[in-house]
Order: sequence, then structure tokens, then C-alpha cells
Amino acid sequence: KAKGAGRNTLMFFNPAMAEEMLERHEIEVELRGACDDGSLELYYQPIIDLKTQEVVSREALMRWRHPTRGMVPPGIFIPIAEQSGLIANMGDWAIQKACKDAASWEPGIGVSVNISPLQFREPRRIVETVKEALIASNLSSRQLTLEVTESLLIEDNKVTFAVIDELRALGVAFALDDFGTGYSSLAYLSTYPFAQVKIDQSFTRSVHSSEASKAIIEAVCQLARRLQMNVVVEGIETEQQRIAVQLLGAQRAQGFLFGKPEPLSQLAPRGGRHVA
Ligand code: C2E
Ligand code: MG
Ligand code: MG
Ligand code: MG
Repeated sequence: KAKGAGRNTLMFFNPAMAEEMLERHEIEVELRGACDDGSLELYYQPIIDLKTQEVVSREALMRWRHPTRGMVPPGIFIPIAEQSGLIANMGDWAIQKACKDAASWEPGIGVSVNISPLQFREPRRIVETVKEALIASNLSSRQLTLEVTESLLIEDNKVTFAVIDELRALGVAFALDDFGTGYSSLAYLSTYPFAQVKIDQSFTRSVHSSEASKAIIEAVCQLARRLQMNVVVEGIETEQQRIAVQLLGAQRAQGFLFGKPEPLSQLAPRGGRHVA
């Protein structure tokens, strides 16, 4: 890295950058097609109640089945969808599909859908999409949770909070995703009416090596209990991590230990892990 890069630094256009731009453009063009041709899919990952070990809900995670690139993860295509405006259509589709899928599950199992901050830029649209998806699917609004990140809250936009309130009035719950990354502020938890807070998987990964991670998980669990919110700890991969976060006060967890994201046709039943 060049020393003092930033101010007074010229960015030279090099072949690698040109290639990257071409690739982005190619992905954008293909993604536009994918919205219509059925190559977007929703996978579902279970969220577990740690006490009962049962599945309480499932998070919808978008996948793109690309003809030559294979399964493209959302980390690659969601940012491109956001920059190109495609996220609005893709986001509508995800809400509709997730409600429809969840309506076919065992009674009482919820579904969580990730919402891009950009979807709040069209406030009427997201409200209408959710209303229509609930009516069309016949899913109870109590079973739907929308996951948003702190980046939405720092904008501190009155319209955003009005949309959240309007959807909550319908019975839809909100979850604060990836808590502890970015601009985290404990104040967000008490100021805004979240039903759920999801502690980012970076804390889980370091739960055995970092006293700070332990302390943060424990503090967030305590605060959440006082505020009558539920906590989901993300990224549980090992039995040791499960035991650790449960001792720190977590009620719910999500991670490869309990189940990877799977297509609708392959979901494990509510009892969680299959016993051979
Ligand atoms: P997220 O909402 O925080 O989702 C959790 C991510 O962690 C998922 O990655 C999931 O596969 C992964 N994960 C779950 N358990 C484990 C584990 O035990 N270990 C590890 N290493 N990873 C685990 P995925 O599916 O690649 O999604 C990445 C992100 O893309 C999501 O993070 C979410 O922010 C975004 N995303 C996914 N689907 C959608 C969507 O439909 N709309 C929007 N706007 N964003 C989406
Ligand atoms: Mg999420
Ligand atoms: Mg998350
Ligand atoms: Mg994430």
C-alpha cells in the first residue's frame, strides 16, 4: 500500500481494475436476467431455541444459481444489486417467496427475511409488498421477522422509523442483525423496538480466546432480557461454542452446528438435527 494514500494521490487505471469493472458489469447484466428466469433461490437456515433444541424459525438467505459460476453467495451479488437498483425487485421477491414457503411449514415456525437499507428508500413499496405477501400466502404476520442492520439506523431517518412502526402495527417483528459490527451502539437496542437482536458471528468465533467477546455476549443477553427482546447468537459451529454462549445467557442460536442453509425441499423438521 502506498504511504499516505488518499489525499493528493492519483488513482491510475490499471488492467486489473478494468477487468474488475467488466466483471461487475457482466454480473449486473446477468443478475438482471436472473430476477426473471428463476435462478434466484432462497435457502433456509434454522434458528434454534437452546433450551429445547427445537427449531423456532428459519432465516431466508438468497442464492443465485449461475449457469457457469455455480452458486453465487449473496456477499458477491447483493452489493451489486444495491448499486444497480436491482435490490428493490429482488427484495420484493424474497419477501413474497419467504412468506409463501413459511406458510407450508409446521405450525408456529417463523421466518426471517433480510432487508436492505435501500428498500426503505421506497417506503410505500416495502409496506405494500409485506401486506400483499401476508395476504397472498395466508401467513400470520406474527411469524414474519424482518432483519435490518445498524447501517439503517445511523441514517436516523424519520420515514424509516415510520415504516418500521407501520409494519410493527401489522404484527411483523424486527431483528437487529450483525449486532456488534460497524456502528454498534447499545443505545439502538433501547431506543428502537426490536423484538430480536442477532449477535454477530465474529463474537462467537472469538468466544474462547477473548474475554471481551464473552463480556459483550453476556452484556447484550442481559440487556436484551431486561428489554424483553430475544437474542440469537450467530455462527455456532462447535459444541463448545454452544455451551459457552448458553452459559453467557443466550436463548437462541444459529449456525452450522444446528444446520446449514438448505433449499426448501431439504429442510430438517422442527426437532432439529436428524437422529440416525
Ligand atoms: P446474515 O443475514 O448475517 O446471514 C448469516 C450468514 O452467516 C449467512 O451467510 C450464513 O450462511 C452464514 N452462517 C450461518 N451459520 C454460520 C456458521 O456457523 N459459520 C459460518 N462461517 N457462517 C455461517 P450468507 O448466506 O452467505 O449471507 C451473507 C449475507 O448476505 C447475510 O448475512 C445478509 O446480510 C445478506 N443476505 C442474504 N440473503 C439476503 C437477502 O435476501 N436480502 C438481503 N438484502 N441481504 C441478504
Ligand atoms: Mg440476517
Ligand atoms: Mg447476521
Ligand atoms: Mg451478516
